[in-house]
Amino acid sequence: MNVVDSEVVAAILQQHHFEVTESLDEADLVLVNTCSIRDNAEQRIRARLKEFKKLKQQKEHLSVGVVGCMAERLKEKLMEEEAVVDLVVGPDAYRELPALLERVEQGEKGINTLLSRVETYADIEPVRMDQNRVTAFVSIMRGCDNYCAYCVVPGTRGHERSREPGSILEEVASLAARGYREVTLLGQNVNSYRYQEREHRVSFEKLLEQVATIDPLMRVRFATSHPKDMSDELLKVMAQYPNLCRAIHLPVQSGSSSVLHRMKRRYTREHYMERIEAIRKYLPEASVSTDIIAGFCGETEAEHLETLSLMEWVGYDFAYMFKYSERPGTLAARKYEDDIPERIKGKRLNEIIQLQNRLSLESKEKEVGRTVEVLAEGVSKKSSEQLYGRTSQNKVVVFPRASYAPGTYVRVKIERCTSATLIGSPV
Ligand code: SAH
Ligand code: SF4
Repeated sequence: MNVVDSEVVAAILQQHHFEVTESLDEADLVLVNTCSIRDNAEQRIRARLKEFKKLKQQKEHLSVGVVGCMAERLKEKLMEEEAVVDLVVGPDAYRELPALLERVEQGEKGINTLLSRVETYADIEPVRMDQNRVTAFVSIMRGCDNYCAYCVVPGTRGHERSREPGSILEEVASLAARGYREVTLLGQNVNSYRYQEREHRVSFEKLLEQVATIDPLMRVRFATSHPKDMSDELLKVMAQYPNLCRAIHLPVQSGSSSVLHRMKRRYTREHYMERIEAIRKYLPEASVSTDIIAGFCGETEAEHLETLSLMEWVGYDFAYMFKYSERPGTLAARKYEDDIPERIKGKRLNEIIQLQNRLSLESKEKEVGRTVEVLAEGVSKKSSEQLYGRTSQNKVVVFPRASYAPGTYVRVKIERCTSATLIGSPV
């Protein structure tokens, strides 16, 4: 989400005659796009700002701006706490950047953290900064209205709103025409996408179908799905179009219904399991990945064990795993005590990671001996003789480059694997 937001910021500034530079030494303006989801994300930004402070001592005319969630969360406080910051702009105010920068040029500070109920940057074609030119992110909605108890997103990104579908289809068609081969449709709760204008109503299922038919060679992914909106209808649409990738990211957060209730996730362990069964029924070949939080307020050892047993039951192909981090202003911060000692959080997270490492390895081992279709994305970081790409299931594959180019589909026979990567040869 932040990658695509940075691309929108770059597009707005390019329209006002700014240019993107790869080199910090060359830059007259540095914008840091920020995340507030956990405290350590914010601490990393603060460390980065210290580097820019040093740079500013050498380059007096350098301006530094903070954009995104941390700007939204801290507002003026960020300027008071970090003297290096000239500009603070929240996620819905990027169109104001050029005007704010004019003030900064005159030696003033610039700030705008107004949230919007309508802004989706629908008309702005992002300047692609992912250099592979094969895969791109397309934002289809902004904000979130779910207010999960632990989460800052509704506070920092505002209310949920869906982008006008015509502009999404145009953006994907334009990417296809330029040779892109994969788009990931993005939203905090992407499968609650719903656009309505008078009689014209477009559901997420409908949108997905329309995106899938633009170009059968264009793969389509989406993230992040909320279990409450993972409908049979959506799974049936996916089953109809082979270019809708067989990979579903379905954050569970916890395997315990009582913890889920405290988290305000609006589903139970049983409901989540029933949704996994539906995925297995309609898309038997789909991979399933998830997000998990260890050590949420009041989590007992028994509740933690329920997370482990659910992980095992699902057999996740991949997971993002975190220790609970209390965020100011959230329901959990107001209502519950962050009472799980750091040591226990660490121990539980470790157990979750250990289990997932085994599950990830099992998921990769299943592919050994099979021939899979890989969309080549680029040259492997480890060797210029190897290409890397992904399967429809989102598993990373490395194979000899030979004469294959990024952006092509290659059939690869998988010979061996690690828990993160499949290794094979083109057939
Ligand atoms: N909108 C998406 C992703 C939100 S942020 C969704 O609902 O799934 C990505 C992940 O960060 C979340 O799924 C959650 O696992 C984690 N996360 C969010 N707030 C957190 C917090 N306060 N502490 C630890 N992890 C958190
Ligand atoms: Fe946060 Fe929940 Fe919204 Fe995801 S669905 S962004 S976790 S409030």
